[in-house]
Amino acid sequence: MQKFSDLGLAPAIAKALEKAGYDTPTPVQGEAVPAAIAGRDLLVSAQTGSGKTAAFLLPVLHTLLRQQGERTQKEAQEWDKLVADAQAKGEPLPKRPRRKDPTNPRNFKAAVPGALVLCPTRELAQQVAHDAIDLVRHIKGLRIAHVVGGMPYQMQIARLQNANLVVATPGRLLDLERSGQIKLDQVQFLVVDEADRMLDLGFADDLAEIHRLTEQRHQTLMFS
Ligand code: AMP
Repeated sequence: MQKFSDLGLAPAIAKALEKAGYDTPTPVQGEAVPAAIAGRDLLVSAQTGSGKTAAFLLPVLHTLLRQQGERTQKEAQEWDKLVADAQAKGEPLPKRPRRKDPTNPRNFKAAVPGALVLCPTRELAQQVAHDAIDLVRHIKGLRIAHVVGGMPYQMQIARLQNANLVVATPGRLLDLERSGQIKLDQVQFLVVDEADRMLDLGFADDLAEIHRLTEQRHQTLMFS
């Protein structure tokens, strides 16, 4: 039988799976995860209950985590160099910048997520975000946000800031994009969950717009 460790997932993700009580991949995970990690676009047809949510979340979180690790390493090297340069010149050592309070409107910065998951309904978006949060619970540095109607404005901004993966319904996402709260030009992974239902619910134009706004992306994963 296939094991999660056979799928090429980062050790932190494999550990998170263990903690979440998943021991073996479901068939859709066994097929989709390695293909997505290898960078392929996917069109997957799978039933609810087949483990399809983790089938797209795992490879996306895996790659975001790998990139995060590379970024952190680079930043640490740059910081060490700044300190070494200051020491060599006999100058005062640099101070690390303080994290700014994201709920203060003066500190507003648009969210620039690396991954976007689109869901046809608010309930599904909440469920997917919940699964993603569960998977990254013990992983440092990956932030998940979900965008649904009805959330207070300040809370929404605070939650979106620094989000690596955003789960959203198309209409709400485009509202936020148009009002400048989120920028989609850093999105590398676009996941469309329940793509068929999305079209049934009349989201074709919104999807076309999101496709255009994320044209620089590396991968598209469509699930239905
Ligand atoms: P989904 O098809 O994504 O709606 O998943 C159905 C349920 O199966 C969810 O509650 C998941 O938490 C659970 N699940 C997904 N993958 C696995 C797995 N490999 N082992 C055990 N449970 C899983």
